[in-house]
Amino acid sequence: MPLPTGQNTRTISGYARVLLDYPRWVIEREVDFTNCPHDGRFDSDDMGCTSCRFGTACRWLNVNVSAPSPDVALPELIGALDAAVAYLHSPKRYESPHERGCHCDTCEWLREAKSFLRMHRHRR
Ligand SMILES: [Zn+2]
Repeated sequence: MPLPTGQNTRTISGYARVLLDYPRWVIEREVDFTNCPHDGRFDSDDMGCTSCRFGTACRWLNVNVSAPSPDVALPELIGALDAAVAYLHSPKRYESPHERGCHCDTCEWLREAKSFLRMHRHRR
């Protein structure tokens, strides 16, 4: 995945912000709000939302709909990354599992995000 230029990737949280661009892009395209009674606003009290097949992605998107502001703390960024990794890694997303060493955008991103999380999880 080509990283957008002009962003600060030298700091840990700057890099976490850049990593969040890809799942936001993917999830925005995957979630279909055509039949959503809430117009895409996740409502955790609504059974319809919690059982919706887009529920996990929709909840993520509602929190991460725009790029995180500079004052979002690293633990929150890591939490958002964790959730994005769990979502993109879910076998339900694929007709067949991707092989190890697959070079599609999603697998490349997952490898990058997971190694980032391995390195920085302990900083929570
Ligand atoms: Zn793949």
